[in-house]
Amino acid sequence: MDEILSKLLHLCDSTPVFAAAYDSFDRLRYANRAFRSAFFLDEEEAPLWSDLMRRNFDAGRGTVIRNRDFEAWLISTQSRRGKTGFRAFETDLVDGRWLWMTETVQGDGWMLCIASDITKLRAHGRSVRQDRDAAIKASYTDELTGVANRRFVNGRIEEMLRHSDFKIGVCGCICVLDLDNFKYVNDRYGHQAGDAILRDFAARIQRQVRRPDCFGRVGGEEFVLVLPNTSASEAELMVERMLAAIRISRPLKERADFSYTFSAGIASARHGTTVADLFARADEALYSAKMAGRNRIHLAA
Ligand code: GH3
Ligand code: MG
Ligand code: MG
Repeated sequence: MDEILSKLLHLCDSTPVFAAAYDSFDRLRYANRAFRSAFFLDEEEAPLWSDLMRRNFDAGRGTVIRNRDFEAWLISTQSRRGKTGFRAFETDLVDGRWLWMTETVQGDGWMLCIASDITKLRAHGRSVRQDRDAAIKASYTDELTGVANRRFVNGRIEEMLRHSDFKIGVCGCICVLDLDNFKYVNDRYGHQAGDAILRDFAARIQRQVRRPDCFGRVGGEEFVLVLPNTSASEAELMVERMLAAIRISRPLKERADFSYTFSAGIASARHGTTVADLFARADEALYSAKMAGRNRIHLAA
């Protein structure tokens, strides 16, 4: 086995194909020579994917990022990165090379990235493919906040229900998060301030989302977390940390004293649960959190 592994690593360093593996925190844990050279990595470096992308963006090298606002691009990309078992897409490098990138994700959140140089291949029709990719991305993205939208979230919930193995007690949860008194906030501070608060909320929550989980905006000021293989009490702890982070946020520059909160309802998946069931129970728990005074999290019965 050791011999095979060492042969394999040796082969990886001699191929022009790009190979890398990231752990569930999105830290780079392996990269072959081609990958390290394309993304300007030293031999022993193991940065977080976000830091690697930011560093190359700042230096004007690596992946081409068309959005001028790097942090906005990051939120949007992270909300979909590694959330499905496999995806493949075209990406281009600042040096003019085009890559066909694949991402394979395991249940534990580790991700294998393999890419090939397709610069010489099928240059024809490339803009059509790019338009198609942009349209697919847009169809899964909430325009205001850049995080996943209802369509993408529902897909992840269906996947979670399909893959849950209830017999061995492994299940998952959804959590519905709804901003408190948001109508008042809009009336008092204006719709633009309301939009800024929604973006602040999405960015802060997205930062705390683990790789196998999914976070998206499903309505005006309503968001959902999909948490596979997570018990209701684990979910509650996680969402408590999120609530603590939101309470100390001061998203309005002109009003440094303004703060906001949310309420949340958590429902766990049982045998035979449907997406509609799960939403109904989470909404009920959310309603009870609102009735109990808001700024809190309730679990569904
Ligand atoms: P509760 O604590 O019970 O949730 O009260 P609420 O005022 O948050 O709830 P309600 O559902 O009555 O109002 C939601 C408000 O959210 C209505 C609308 O003004 C605002 N809203 C919805 N979508 C957007 C948006 O995209 N941008 C802004 N700025 N406001 C939005
Ligand atoms: Mg609300
Ligand atoms: Mg609402």
